[in-house]
Amino acid sequence: MSSPRIDLHTHSTASDGTRTPAEVMQDARDARLDVVALTDHDTVAGWVEARANSEGLFFVPGAEISCKTSDGISLHILGLGFDATNAELMQTLALTRDDRLPRMEKMVQNLSDAGYAITMEQVWQQVPEGATLGRPHLADALVAAGTVSTRDEAFSRLLHNDSPFYVGHIAPLPHQAVQMIKAAGGVAVFAHPGASKRGATVERDEIAQMTESGLDALEVDHRDHDPETRERLKALASELGLLCTGASDYHGAGKLNEIGENLTDPMVWEELQRRMQWIQ
Ligand code: AMP
Ligand code: ZN
Ligand code: FE
Ligand code: FE
Repeated sequence: MSSPRIDLHTHSTASDGTRTPAEVMQDARDARLDVVALTDHDTVAGWVEARANSEGLFFVPGAEISCKTSDGISLHILGLGFDATNAELMQTLALTRDDRLPRMEKMVQNLSDAGYAITMEQVWQQVPEGATLGRPHLADALVAAGTVSTRDEAFSRLLHNDSPFYVGHIAPLPHQAVQMIKAAGGVAVFAHPGASKRGATVERDEIAQMTESGLDALEVDHRDHDPETRERLKALASELGLLCTGASDYHGAGKLNEIGENLTDPMVWEELQRRMQWIQ
């Protein structure tokens, strides 16, 4: 038997991916995956549909939790295999999702004030029902309006973290998110910790603090990490006693990332599974 193919980070139309949860499961089978996690931004809304369509796959329910450090750096933590009835974690995700609306309204206002004509109505046309509202939907609205030609161009010109039009939203502190994921029986993986082109990345001390709170792994093999970054993160993981994962961060047609393009070592997956106190 060949080695199992494990992808622990994907997005659907429950957030800013372009494929429905059922389609992501089909894409996973087409890519000959054995294990796939659905990790939409700040929501578990896609789990039921994904699980119902996960025949032939080991489905891992998850979420990518938006966090902000006390220095204002935004980062993402993947929670995998946690209990979605955990009140504290669910309330935290709801608070983040709710604040994404006024945040979007401010970004739309900032763009309009600067002469990039765009309205909330145009943004809503790009948001699938029930999806976590995000900058990619604003990017899609700007593409539809003819202001830019791709999501990528929208981000690099107008929507990136250091842009004058950027507005943040409420988000938990990283170590708090880790604690909540662990208390809900899941495992916590720091997503793309070295993805510097998205904005500032965090220092070793912040990762050490997350580790003390129970962080399980660093997502080392990710498209946004060059070979040097991967080596540096591997050394840091080994120093801090963390596992290393790999994943695609698939967004359907919303990004170049192909499902299954980065995978997690089966031995690491075995260990993560042992640590999941709550699954399905
Ligand atoms: P938000 O959570 O609303 O701040 O938006 C962040 C999302 O934007 C993340 O899921 C990223 O995947 C996505 N994103 C960031 N940069 C780009 C880009 N250049 N092209 C497409 N999506 C991007
Ligand atoms: Zn995304
Ligand atoms: Fe992310
Ligand atoms: Fe992601």
